[in-house]
Amino acid sequence: MNAPLPRSAAPCGGIDLHQEQGQRAVFCGLTGIVWLHRKIQDAFFLVVGSRTCAHLIQSAAGVMIFAEPRFATAIIDERDLAGLADANEELDRVVTRLIERRPDIKLLFLVGSCPSEVIKLDLSRAAQRLSSRLNPVRVLNYSGSGIETTFTQGEDACLAALVPDLPREAETSTPALLIVGALADVVEDQFLRMFSAMGIADVRFLPARRAGGMPAVGRNTRYLLAQPFLTETARALDERGARRLAAPFPLGAEGTTGWLFAAAEAFGVSALAFEAAIAPGRARAETALAPHREKLGGKRVFFFPDSQLEVPLARFLARELGAELVEVGTPYLHRAHLAAEIEWLPAGTRVTEGQSLDDQMDRCRAARPDLTICGLGLANPLEAEGLSTKWSIELLFTPVQGYEQAGDLAELFVRPLRRRALLEV
Ligand code: SF4
Repeated sequence: MNAPLPRSAAPCGGIDLHQEQGQRAVFCGLTGIVWLHRKIQDAFFLVVGSRTCAHLIQSAAGVMIFAEPRFATAIIDERDLAGLADANEELDRVVTRLIERRPDIKLLFLVGSCPSEVIKLDLSRAAQRLSSRLNPVRVLNYSGSGIETTFTQGEDACLAALVPDLPREAETSTPALLIVGALADVVEDQFLRMFSAMGIADVRFLPARRAGGMPAVGRNTRYLLAQPFLTETARALDERGARRLAAPFPLGAEGTTGWLFAAAEAFGVSALAFEAAIAPGRARAETALAPHREKLGGKRVFFFPDSQLEVPLARFLARELGAELVEVGTPYLHRAHLAAEIEWLPAGTRVTEGQSLDDQMDRCRAARPDLTICGLGLANPLEAEGLSTKWSIELLFTPVQGYEQAGDLAELFVRPLRRRALLEV
């Protein structure tokens, strides 16, 4: 499952930056459906793909036996691939039947895949056609294909597809804060309480929990990225006139403070009000992190490129837990979005952008790190070789942002070490 990724130019801050190209081992963008379908509660994700795509989604999301699932795959079979059937007609038929059967669906995403790209099925035209036919159900499209996207880029593509559809904020409105990136509801609520304590009242989220509640965006929108992999979404918001607030990402106590501070600064919150709003949460986070520091301090950590969360996570592990970074691999290093994070990485940290799988495996084996953060496909072989691993995908499924989750985030890295210790006993 390979995808071409944008390249960027070295050098970069005080890090030791390398760029690699070659074989990659990363999930495709369909994976994002697993957390997005839980987030937008009246949306449905229809993958236009093959049985392989259906298996991926089904096994990644688990089988939802007791609920009506909010995702499915319209299978393109051999007849369609050979161009023998009118795939558009078939797609219209499947979608119409779905909407008749499920009146709860208000927003439908047609999600492209490798097979739909191979037969050059134009999903954007299909989405327009179906949107006017099924009004008021909104039909949008994006690609989750492994040819175009990796893993978390699926969320980026989905949110970027939403932006042109967002209501336009009036030019005369007062500035509003927009948080961009899917967060667990509980995390959103915690942030809302903190912003409100600072006096920032108009806070919106993209994506919203319901299709009808998507935020208005305009020139007076100031946005904070909650995830580091939202390149296209940020570009679309910039084109709408919104302004990004430069910040680290809200992982760990330090990252969360920096992230909240960026909003406080932009909205003129006084130092006193900011400190009063964050102090209790920050103290709880620091208390929760203390016992984990003992276990992770001095541990050598190796990141394979997977989720694009690697740089903020590495910063958290190094600065707040005392871990030693052997190598930080990332599929793509967005210089501007990650500027604050790069600044915080220990000087000389080896960061690898892109991937040449065999070379990286060799470096990992030679280094014998205490902990390797990697995709599911690499974890088993590395475990069999006696290395402790953490699946990076877990960091997307688990609420990890904000003060209250800082301890849980550290615990995710401690668990494989504990398991390895038990196995060795
Ligand atoms: Fe595989 Fe491509 Fe389908 Fe992803 S979109 S599951 S890479 S065939």
